Amino acid sequence: MDLSYSADEEGFRAELRQWLRDNPAGPEPERLDEWVAYGKAWQGKLFKAGWCGIAWPKEYGGRGATLIEQTIFQEEMARAKAPMLINLAGLTMGGPVLIAHGTEEQKHRHLKRILAADEIWCQGFSEPNAGSDLASLKTRAVLDGDSFIVTGQKVWTSFARYADWCMLLVRTDPEAPKHKGITFLLVDMHSPGITVRPLKQISGEEDFNEVFFEDVRVPRSNVIGELNGGWEIAITTLMHERATLTFTRQLQSRTALTDMLSFARRWQLNGMPATQSRLVRQQLAQAWVESEVIKFTAYRSLTKTLRGGIPGPEGSMEKLFWSEMYQRMLDVPLAMQGPYSQLVKDSAHVPDGGQWPHLMLYSRGRTIAAGSSEIQRNIIAERVLHLPREGK
Ligand SMILES: Cc1cc2nc3c(=O)[nH]c(=O)nc-3n(C[C@H](O)[C@H](O)[C@H](O)COP(=O)(O)OP(=O)(O)OC[C@H]3O[C@@H](n4cnc5c(N)ncnc54)[C@H](O)[C@@H]3O)c2cc1C
Repeated sequence: MDLSYSADEEGFRAELRQWLRDNPAGPEPERLDEWVAYGKAWQGKLFKAGWCGIAWPKEYGGRGATLIEQTIFQEEMARAKAPMLINLAGLTMGGPVLIAHGTEEQKHRHLKRILAADEIWCQGFSEPNAGSDLASLKTRAVLDGDSFIVTGQKVWTSFARYADWCMLLVRTDPEAPKHKGITFLLVDMHSPGITVRPLKQISGEEDFNEVFFEDVRVPRSNVIGELNGGWEIAITTLMHERATLTFTRQLQSRTALTDMLSFARRWQLNGMPATQSRLVRQQLAQAWVESEVIKFTAYRSLTKTLRGGIPGPEGSMEKLFWSEMYQRMLDVPLAMQGPYSQLVKDSAHVPDGGQWPHLMLYSRGRTIAAGSSEIQRNIIAERVLHLPREGK
């Protein structure tokens, strides 16, 4: 792993840092629908200035730079506390999958719009009886002339209410073994027959949704890759999701750690700043050590990707460690706050605007989303350590 940057890379960093200083995003709205409009405008502005799709090919609207520059972009965005890019599913999964498996027509149709956030994407994989065991999915797509008729239900679909396109996994051959009868289909979310119902999370937000498909017509040309060849593409998608999102999120959790240190200096425990407490100091040091561990693990994995192309199952190791360490880390400010940690955001006496209980509640989903911790442990055991397969 080489942690130094070339003069060109440092130049890229300086230019971006200056741009972010000159173009602050402004405060983020609380309400989700307002945040969506704000997020689209922010990503659109970044795209127009050439800061979106850093490592995507130029012909599809990207910058044609390297993965190192993509990483510098993520580092600088976290450093500036810039808002998350809204089209996360399109940027981290949809785009990479299209670049690897899409036809020229599909790439030209979609990639630029993903980058500009003109069209928002969502991921329609999970179903009520197919989460960890994704290959058991039942949503059906039956060919009828030049189109499929799709019927079924997806669940936990983040941002489906605001999405224009859905990466949908459908069963196209019910007779084939379960991994062999799945197709990866792009579905226009404005098609007749689609109903989206929001689901409320523990944090009070409504990011995710149930999506119902009743005889939805989807052109055959919207298949990504081969008919019945969707499983391999789904696995690539999930590896991209784990690797890219973990990289971004470990940067965000480092920002949270810095905020937490600042909070500990301001918060009084027994008449002294919390940083004077031996217990708190131990906890802060442990959080810092773990944050460094994930930082270097993420860079090691990036090095591997730089050498070999697509992310491998090792991404599960990062995802597992990061999601669990983030939850441990968020317990620290809550323990410092004691009973105050139970106050909600708008309460008069809530410390630090209520951000710590909110982050802690939001973080609970991180050990479930993109594959639960138990599933990551199975992947690490079987595909990284080559231990015997589950149940064998
Ligand atoms: C914040 C968030 C956002 C999400 N966004 C999306 C999205 O946009 N699109 C999408 O398609 N999905 C999304 N999901 C869904 C997510 O992918 C699933 O929740 C996840 O795959 C787990 O599936 P499940 O909820 O059906 O749980 P289940 O698979 O029913 O698992 C229940 C429990 O059993 C354990 N378990 C299951 N199988 C095994 C096994 N073989 N060995 C050991 N333990 C096992 C699990 O670890 C878990 O603890 C999101 C989830 C969250 C929390």
